[in-house]
Amino acid sequence: MYRGKSVWVERVEGDIVELCFDRSDGDINKFDLRTIQEFRDATAAIAKGIGICGVLVSSAKDTFIVGADIFEFRDLFRKTSDQIAEVNADQSAVFTMFEDLPIPTVVAINGLALGGGFEMALTADYRVIVDGAQIGLPEVNLGLFPGYGGTVRLPRLCGVGTALEWIVTGRSRRPSEALAAGVVDFVVTSGDLRSVAISTLRSAAANENWRDRRSSRRGAVAVKDPQTIAALKERAERVANHYPAALAVIELVASSADLGRDEALKAESRAFGRIAKTPTASALVQVFVNDQILKRRSKAYLQSARRIEKAAVLGAGIMGGGIACTSATNGTPVLMKDVASSALDLGLREVERLLEKQVASGRVDAVRATAIRGSITPSLTYAGFSSVDIVIEAIVENVDIKKRVLSEAEGEVGPDAIMASNTSSLSIDVLAAGLKRPENFVGMHFFNPGPVTPLAEVLRGRETSDATVGSVVRYALAIGKTPVVLQDCPGFLVNRVLNAYFVGFSKLIRDGADFIGVDEAMEAFGWPMGPAYLQDVVGMDTSSHVFATIAASYPARMALDFTNPMQLMANVGRYGQKTKLGFYRYVAGVNARPSRHLSEDSRDILVACQPGGQRTFSDMEIVDRMMMPMILEAAVCLQDGIAMTASEIDMALVLGTGFPRHHGGPLAYADAVGLRTVARKCEDLAHLGAAYAAPELLIKLADTGRGFYD
Ligand code: NAD
Repeated sequence: MYRGKSVWVERVEGDIVELCFDRSDGDINKFDLRTIQEFRDATAAIAKGIGICGVLVSSAKDTFIVGADIFEFRDLFRKTSDQIAEVNADQSAVFTMFEDLPIPTVVAINGLALGGGFEMALTADYRVIVDGAQIGLPEVNLGLFPGYGGTVRLPRLCGVGTALEWIVTGRSRRPSEALAAGVVDFVVTSGDLRSVAISTLRSAAANENWRDRRSSRRGAVAVKDPQTIAALKERAERVANHYPAALAVIELVASSADLGRDEALKAESRAFGRIAKTPTASALVQVFVNDQILKRRSKAYLQSARRIEKAAVLGAGIMGGGIACTSATNGTPVLMKDVASSALDLGLREVERLLEKQVASGRVDAVRATAIRGSITPSLTYAGFSSVDIVIEAIVENVDIKKRVLSEAEGEVGPDAIMASNTSSLSIDVLAAGLKRPENFVGMHFFNPGPVTPLAEVLRGRETSDATVGSVVRYALAIGKTPVVLQDCPGFLVNRVLNAYFVGFSKLIRDGADFIGVDEAMEAFGWPMGPAYLQDVVGMDTSSHVFATIAASYPARMALDFTNPMQLMANVGRYGQKTKLGFYRYVAGVNARPSRHLSEDSRDILVACQPGGQRTFSDMEIVDRMMMPMILEAAVCLQDGIAMTASEIDMALVLGTGFPRHHGGPLAYADAVGLRTVARKCEDLAHLGAAYAAPELLIKLADTGRGFYD
């Protein structure tokens, strides 16, 4: 009856038609513009059909429909709010057209049905779902809410409370939960899916009972749950500043609960047009797209990759223990070598601590924890190194010691083994000098805490081969990390860009800002921790050293002619949480998380770098003076080819530093501010030195009215 590239319709069993989502050029079904148009045409073909008693909707893929094509959002969201609402209403009308077919409809959900996929299923009279499938409305994770009738149909099916709970959490749900909530009608095995769907259709057609069901969903919502709405609203209000979608959808659903379906659908489109224009939606959509871009780039690197079956870690310290634990937890056995048995014990204790945490959180069970422990082999010698595929060096940050140990280890491994260094500040090219096989050498920079932070920077030296990069990317993915491949440079990407941020911090304090005011302004901006608090958590013995090392490599922008605040603290042994005293004072708290308190004398210590005394800065001034150097350093990294794309830079900062997701990363944030505005702010702050000087790339983009993502 109809055949498109994503949808076909055929008569099955005489008077039943099947509308099947079956994308011909992909492994999954999604609602891109083409599919929506085909869904429209297919529905029109069914409407014109004669002698049809019901419609079965199915998918020919493993998943049902995974949702909208988010890559298309970027163009759509460039339109005005009214235009977006108009486009949305036009697309949403296709779903309503299907819902209004004058015959009963059943959807057979064979796998993942998310977002628009689930909203399609909501248009049918009956839903049969395979046990093991998942359904849900994850739009809120993109700063949005459902726009194809989800906010209208779900509450009319299961009540406002349950519907909002589903929409606001964005979590996918299991079939049993959907059945209990009345969202699906039958949960079946995959073998029974089709037959149950067809028999449901036949019995509906015979009894005509679908008509009552349908008309009950045309009017106002029956179950309004004011208490649940109030509770959800209270929670949503707390984060609405940065994440407005939850509050907006609660207000939308509550206010359209008394309307009929068609009026409620109009309200949904209008509200969708507004939420799509929020900076949060734009940033979160960009983060999603960036994540996909990163996955594609990783896939490309895999072409030349070898499989890493067995790893070795040199150094059983904080990082070595964490890397060993991450590797073993994700199925790659690992040798862990150190020079002292006391250090090995420490490393094993670190592994134990991390495993206990995982068992306590239910991520790993006790049996699995034992197996993981068994796949970490502590050693004081190089025994077993001849059979490892990769060695990750995580010993003390000293160039001479690292070079000696790397060269020693190279002599113990096979000719194809990869040698990687987890150095945070030393040059990969410098470390490679003296190795016999520099093509096998690469940087693999993990972040503390190793098992938790999702990012791994993969640093390509001048001589690193494609095969080495590919294999390390493969290993990073295998152990659950997101690899970002970068060119070697001092500080690599994340620490280098963070260093620029701390240049901003140091100059703010020097010019008289109060560190608590700076922390408050940056936390209000969205950082999980303000800069002073972050330094306390990292530990200023290490961070002041890293700061100085990286700053020395970019003297024009980062060298300071005064003692910076981190150094002032470190000079008097106030390293932060580890000494219970830094910018703040810490008291051991519940679950070993120390609580932060004001330390009266911190301000007295900082006076030493404040020749002009203290003065007040507005939050906006603080944000600009902190964020500009970060944006500019990220722009220099893009300009110099340290990373190939703005997407990689932003994702590395989001994954590696807790950069607020709702700002998307430094370059997405700069685009949101507008590069002309950024350039003007740079001019205003030019008296603060080269850290505030816009690089050529930024000026060029600003002059031509473009952004980093154009
Ligand atoms: P650490 O001091 O906790 O551990 C270093 C370990 O290396 C010690 O156990 C030491 O005994 C061992 N060691 C020294 N010489 C050795 C040798 N010849 N063979 C085997 N083991 C040897 O240090 P860490 O914090 O785990 O840092 C290790 C590396 O990781 C450094 O290069 C550091 O810059 C980098 N790094 C650290 C962090 C962090 O936050 N701590 C983050 C990223 C990268």
